[in-house]
Amino acid sequence: AKTDPMDKCVRFQQQMRHLRDEHLAIKKDLERAIQVNEFTLEYQPIASTLTDRVISAEALIRWCHPEKGLIYPDEFIPIAEETGLINEIGLWVNRQVAHMQARLARLNYDVPLSLNVSPRQLSDPHFVTHMRALPEETGCNPEMISLELTESVLLGDIPNAFETLSLLKRTGYRIVIDDFGAGYSNLAYLHNYPIDGIKIDRMFMNDIASGGAIVKLILSLANALGAEVVAEGVETIEQRAWLLENGCHLFQGYLYSKPVPEERFLSMLETQVQI
Ligand code: C2E
Ligand code: CA
Ligand code: CA
Ligand code: CA
Repeated sequence: AKTDPMDKCVRFQQQMRHLRDEHLAIKKDLERAIQVNEFTLEYQPIASTLTDRVISAEALIRWCHPEKGLIYPDEFIPIAEETGLINEIGLWVNRQVAHMQARLARLNYDVPLSLNVSPRQLSDPHFVTHMRALPEETGCNPEMISLELTESVLLGDIPNAFETLSLLKRTGYRIVIDDFGAGYSNLAYLHNYPIDGIKIDRMFMNDIASGGAIVKLILSLANALGAEVVAEGVETIEQRAWLLENGCHLFQGYLYSKPVPEERFLSMLETQVQI
């Protein structure tokens, strides 16, 4: 049977309508979730390849949906970014992490935290004002908080990115490049920004099995820039051993621990679990 191109067209339109409706439904659901605060943060330990001890942690958002259960960020952060709801969600994340950092300090843990910042948040004027107010509001030490940004932010599409990052830097926050190497090969921006660290995208952990030439290059680049390096997505003992051998001292991944609820993270610090 021949398919009528008109049928195809109608089917396509139906699919698009369906997608748009679904998108709209998630948006409405997200607006409600913000109102009643259905979000929670998990913390994924970042450990030392030298000592196997927890050095730091990354905060990762989860949505505890009343009907659908736990929803992971890949399913709602892109929609939050498109709709601008990320700005409000982000303010909550930042405040939450600031409180957690202050709590860790009170417990005498010298453990810095990191949080994710979407490009769209950086161009929100409230973002900087809010970040600058957090130390006084929560008692956090901004020098113990890293802001993880992807390379796209630094490559130009965001107006005033440089000024914004400089202001945040002057407030004390650390600036870290997330998913390093995943999207762009343009390294020119590295010179222009006040970068404290980079996180090697987890896709490069596969490169290790075949010699790790790219990871070696990233490590020496980071070294030359004086930037701290975290290897992301470390899943095997072999990868961890390779990193140690090649001078990468910080790693994050399922091998050490998956992201865990706040209280579980605190008990990990208390007992300092080994691999
Ligand atoms: P990301 O910033 O690159 O975070 C790392 C992701 O890799 C996390 O997924 C983490 O659970 C996962 N992961 C950690 N270790 C391993 C491993 O060994 N193997 C594998 N396969 N995966 C590992 P998660 O929590 O689902 O977050 C996904 C992304 O959502 C994050 O990627 C980040 O881009 C975004 N995100 C998470 N929380 C926030 C937030 O508070 N704000 C914003 N703007 N984005 C966030
Ligand atoms: Ca991240
Ligand atoms: Ca990452
Ligand atoms: Ca990512």
